[in-house]
Amino acid sequence: MKKQIVVVGLGRFGSSVCKELHSMGHEIMAIDTDPEKVNALREYAAFTVIADATDENQLKSLGVRNFEHAIVAIGDNLQASVLCTLMLKELGLPKVWVKARDLQHEKILHKVGADRVIQPEKEMGIRVAHHVDSDKIIDYIDLSHDYSIIELVASGKMANKTLIDLNIRKEFNCIVLAIKKEEDVNIAPAIDDMVEQDDVLIVMGHKNDLKRLEEKAL
Ligand code: ADP
Repeated sequence: MKKQIVVVGLGRFGSSVCKELHSMGHEIMAIDTDPEKVNALREYAAFTVIADATDENQLKSLGVRNFEHAIVAIGDNLQASVLCTLMLKELGLPKVWVKARDLQHEKILHKVGADRVIQPEKEMGIRVAHHVDSDKIIDYIDLSHDYSIIELVASGKMANKTLIDLNIRKEFNCIVLAIKKEEDVNIAPAIDDMVEQDDVLIVMGHKNDLKRLEEKAL
């Protein structure tokens, strides 16, 4: 479904969010104080605006309150990012997601009502570390401090066995959410579905159990 999204701050982070959302067919209003940044995104947004997103009157006259989702990607300017977040929440936007530079920034953003705070460098650093730690893991998502979803490649050891043979749920207390065979994705696989070598398994579980699964089963 097409969404209306405001992206504030068109640096590396904001502009890539904007381009990706545009390619998915969403309607974007892209805002920055820098005319060059705004011009560079003309092709990727329904509306491009040179404006100061900490100016409440400007935000009001742009009709920002009619948007359902905002991404605030004002880089290191802590004051502007906090002020903009506060105003977007006061204008009643249901979802305001904000990029933070560090933990202190993140805490303030939560206090002023940010619905989600993203620290891209920190999050990407963690993902890269997991890829380095195990070359069997292709992707990794943190669900909480203890639980994750990982994508791992099935080894020869797992090949031509069903999920019941592999006993992942009982032995490792993990759930196989999907099995990918190239472009073909089997979501919610049945216990008698067969795993072949190089299939990608998407597995959810406690981090310790996922580690055991990766070490023993693969
Ligand atoms: P990144 O690390 O994602 O590249 P930058 O710090 O380079 O982030 O980009 C932040 C962007 O936010 C800049 O393009 C800057 O002009 C814009 N910006 C800063 N303050 C405001 C503001 N008050 N209103 C709108 N845009 C702003």
